[in-house]
Amino acid sequence: MRLSLNEDQQQFREEVRAFTSQLEPEPLHHSVDEQFKYLVDFEHRLHDAGLAAVAWPTEYGGRGMSPLEYAIVCDELGRAEAPEVINFVGIDVIAPALLVYADAEQLATWLPLMASAEEIWCQLFSEPDAGSDLASLRTRAEKTDAGWTINGQKVWSTWAQFATWGLLLARTGTAEDRHRGITAFVIDMATPGIDVRPLTTMTGSAEFAEVFFDNVELPDTALLGELGGGWQVAQVMLTAERGPYAIRRSAVLRGAMTGLQRLATGTADPLARQRVAEATIAMELLDLRIADVVATLRRGEEIGADSALTKLFLGQVEQTIFSVAMEILGMGGIAYDSHDAAVVAWVERYLYSRASSIYGGTAQIQRNIVGERLLGLPR
Ligand SMILES: Cc1cc2nc3c(=O)[nH]c(=O)nc-3n(C[C@H](O)[C@H](O)[C@H](O)COP(=O)(O)OP(=O)(O)OC[C@H]3O[C@@H](n4cnc5c(N)ncnc54)[C@H](O)[C@@H]3O)c2cc1C
Repeated sequence: MRLSLNEDQQQFREEVRAFTSQLEPEPLHHSVDEQFKYLVDFEHRLHDAGLAAVAWPTEYGGRGMSPLEYAIVCDELGRAEAPEVINFVGIDVIAPALLVYADAEQLATWLPLMASAEEIWCQLFSEPDAGSDLASLRTRAEKTDAGWTINGQKVWSTWAQFATWGLLLARTGTAEDRHRGITAFVIDMATPGIDVRPLTTMTGSAEFAEVFFDNVELPDTALLGELGGGWQVAQVMLTAERGPYAIRRSAVLRGAMTGLQRLATGTADPLARQRVAEATIAMELLDLRIADVVATLRRGEEIGADSALTKLFLGQVEQTIFSVAMEILGMGGIAYDSHDAAVVAWVERYLYSRASSIYGGTAQIQRNIVGERLLGLPR
């Protein structure tokens, strides 16, 4: 990551390096439960080292640092090819919305346990017929004397089967109200009437789930923000996905790029070498964009429509790195020893990379944004 650091920041980098220097390579996981447990343990370690949520206020378990220190942590974890942060949906995407809309007591209850991954959070936005067109969501929240009753279905909810809390968008107005008739709720995933069914992806892992709500009773305190203000809550989360989460993801890819260069060492095939060069250049371009994101956040400015380009680059770089790895592995990436942790990791990440042009807004939707909002083309 391209970060210019002063002496204090350089010293902080050394602190993070002291932590990453003790990390051992991630072992092969034999089940999603085992993988989950490993990643939670890793996050406990990160939290104990004071590095899980450095940019949060100190009273909620952070260190009150700037987005630059957050980027330093991500960068060092990426360089060390550290395990991925399991509670990223909570820490990077949901927490920024809680910091705007939750009260001090709620923040003190939720954030420290989120940072340590003792409580996992999930994002309950997408539905079978409402993904790109999120404003058409149909899960309903009806007002009752005691609070709210929820009925409906969500899908693709990352780590929902392990989640203690979910941030739910539900319709409180009419379908014609579109985004104005949507409200946000923080929901305890153990509430009766919630049925979470894990979905196995082509990687063989079930890292997300579909979630059904059958007359789920929520207290009034579950409401986050204003009635009918769910779209604004979602916008804060979307912006965070384009800011902190993009920084984290690019650092993960930088680590993968280092792995790719290692994999390619000694490859005589000129085409493979050319493809590695292409991936390297794409990664450098992504780094430049991320440097811009870090600078924008440090100035306290909003991430603008050009974040669609960052999202596009992220997806392209991810798919390029892992496609090139598969080309280098050749038959070794098709018929391989399933106990070979290194090869299994390349294959799984290659399969997962297909998702990078879907989650957080598809590549087509990003191109629409680039066309309409950056280039001024007609809809
Ligand atoms: C790994 C992964 C994790 C996810 N985690 C979560 C999560 O934690 N919580 C959550 O709520 N959701 C999550 N999602 C869901 C994700 O946000 C949606 O998949 C995404 O928004 C796309 O919606 P969709 O799948 O319904 O596809 P659709 O919106 O049905 O799109 C289908 C196709 O049509 C294209 N398309 C749609 N509209 C347009 C248009 N206007 N112009 C051009 N092309 C268009 C799309 O680009 C796509 O190719 C996750 C998805 C993945 C893959």
